[in-house]
Amino acid sequence: MQFCEECGSLMHADGDEMVCSSCEARLAKDEDVAAQYVSTESQTFDDVIETTEDAAEEGLPTAEVTCEECGNDRAWYTIKQTGAADEPPTRFFKCTECGYRWRGYG
Ligand SMILES: [Zn+2]
Ligand SMILES: [Zn+2]
Repeated sequence: MQFCEECGSLMHADGDEMVCSSCEARLAKDEDVAAQYVSTESQTFDDVIETTEDAAEEGLPTAEVTCEECGNDRAWYTIKQTGAADEPPTRFFKCTECGYRWRGYG
């Protein structure tokens, strides 16, 4: 289900597009938007971490978060916009103690 960005009315499918029943505004179908989100996620967690691995990790900011693996309370992190611009960015953590990696949101 999709609503018109112009007037907020319910839209109906017309071929590859969604058409507003009130103002005739057109929009690409939901499925197309979803496919775009998937493609931006194609860069995996490891890809993102790997790019910073050889850079001096001392230069990365650290956050006070608890490592699930060893209980250490500090981890390096990088922030990456993985979804749409209006979604909160993803934070990738790497434990300063054991090197365990995980991701967090917001
Ligand atoms: Zn409309
Ligand atoms: Zn750890």
